[in-house]
Amino acid sequence: VNISIALDGPAGAGKSTIAKIIAKAKKLTYIDTGAMYRAITLKILRYGKNVQEEQIKKILSDSKIDIDGNDIFLDGKLVTEEIRKPEVSNFVSHVAKISFVRMKMVELQRKIAANKNVIMDGRDIGTYVLPNATYKFFLTASIDERAKRRFTELKEKGFNVTFEEVKNEMEKRDKIDTEREFAPLRQAEDAIVIDTTGKCIQEVVDEILYYLK
Ligand code: C5P
Repeated sequence: VNISIALDGPAGAGKSTIAKIIAKAKKLTYIDTGAMYRAITLKILRYGKNVQEEQIKKILSDSKIDIDGNDIFLDGKLVTEEIRKPEVSNFVSHVAKISFVRMKMVELQRKIAANKNVIMDGRDIGTYVLPNATYKFFLTASIDERAKRRFTELKEKGFNVTFEEVKNEMEKRDKIDTEREFAPLRQAEDAIVIDTTGKCIQEVVDEILYYLK
């Protein structure tokens, strides 16, 4: 029987950093579902922000998204770095709330998880994508801490942003993710909740490893 770990939570809670470390320690395949929504958003943005649903449907059916380790490919081109830019972060929730977009991504996610031991991070993994996951964790942290982490990350990558901008956009994104109709950002009833505020990466990793027997 395959092992699956669902790791959900709002933006900047530390999901991807933690997931990568756990994946290595436990020899699991890491699947970043946010990267998939980001990749299709990157493509849609090339057509502008006013793109209509019909066109999004067409873009979606014409696109190929592949994941290989920590790398993500859009139509065969490596986009791992590009999908992190603020322009994508600020638009991705508007794309991710469209139900036909989610249906396609979820199908892909379940297919990847079917034959592998995985740790999958996202917003709806424990509640919707893998409701029977072996383990479910929900990571949170205060908005200020989450925004600070993201701000530092973006600064290191050379983006010209302010803390306030990052915080505002993050709050907007979490609101859209939480309020959307189809598979919103939710804590699964049977998830183990970990508040990462004030904790270093290793503390959170140790806490999760403690539960994985
Ligand atoms: O995890 P990350 O911040 O890269 O996710 C980007 C966006 O993708 C989220 O804000 C959300 O709108 C969407 N997403 C989602 N469901 C997931 C993962 C991400 O709707 N499972």
